[in-house]
Amino acid sequence: MEQNLKVMLISHTPNPLKTVAMAAKLCYSKVGIDKINENMSDEDAKKFMEMLLNYGHLSPLEHASFTFGIEGVSRTLTHQLVRHRIASYSQQSQRYVSEKQFEYIIPPKIKEDKEALDAFTKTMSDIQSSYDNIRDILTKNHTKRLMEEEGLDEKSARSKALKLANEDARFVLPGACESKIIVTMNVRELKHFFTLRTCTRAQWEIREMATEMLKLAKEVSPVLFKDAGPGCVRGKCTEGKMTCGKADEIREKFKNL
Ligand SMILES: Cc1cc2nc3c(=O)[nH]c(=O)nc-3n(C[C@H](O)[C@H](O)[C@H](O)COP(=O)(O)OP(=O)(O)OC[C@H]3O[C@@H](n4cnc5c(N)ncnc54)[C@H](O)[C@@H]3O)c2cc1C
Repeated sequence: MEQNLKVMLISHTPNPLKTVAMAAKLCYSKVGIDKINENMSDEDAKKFMEMLLNYGHLSPLEHASFTFGIEGVSRTLTHQLVRHRIASYSQQSQRYVSEKQFEYIIPPKIKEDKEALDAFTKTMSDIQSSYDNIRDILTKNHTKRLMEEEGLDEKSARSKALKLANEDARFVLPGACESKIIVTMNVRELKHFFTLRTCTRAQWEIREMATEMLKLAKEVSPVLFKDAGPGCVRGKCTEGKMTCGKADEIREKFKNL
């Protein structure tokens, strides 16, 4: 069955702009943290942030984090997402959750091509049958072995066998298989992630997801994420020969996101 993208912002550092601005101000200030806290108005925090971005002093951005819940994405996407190392992830397991009726993502270009769509959905259905078949065979044989060799009663043997079967049957599951993942990134890493993954060079699915994440982050802190998005939002396109040639259009899109 087909699934659609769902991105939610679960939580974030309270008052992320003030947290980042205080950390930054401390670096350049003689006074103590109490005083910085008392004196930091929203307007000061905003000015300080602009100054920081101009200096390229980015480490204070690491003091604020955002946690997103993501559903309706493919394993192909999550494989790309987890390449971003300065983040924390928790992903639904295919070892512990059996895929008795796995959901999948259909790429838009396949969806709009009837012939490709028929072939795609048939493949998904065939994979489901293979998965079920392998899982059943493994469950039956592991149960028998566990009862005979380890002396387990039938109920315990079957429960253990099911876990072992899931673990190996999952090898036939496709990259299209739907997944759910929770990701936490600090603002510095998030902005780096948005630079790479909201660019037209990124693959369509992770680009769509990253753009939704940026929308949600910008609602919380328009100042922190003011210049976030692909490289062209901050100046010339950085993609060289791989440029999409649509920098003006993209800048406009991210300005109004
Ligand atoms: C358009 C596109 C195409 C891609 N194609 C491929 C591909 O064909 N094959 C492939 O394997 N990957 C590919 N990738 C993934 C890419 O190579 C990176 O693994 C991924 O984007 C994570 O980015 P990152 O390494 O900059 O950042 P993160 O892991 O998010 O780290 C952030 C930053 O921290 C620093 N950092 C993190 N770890 C280290 C470290 N160990 N040493 C030094 N500095 C570090 C770097 O400055 C890095 O930019 C592609 C990515 C994009 C956007």
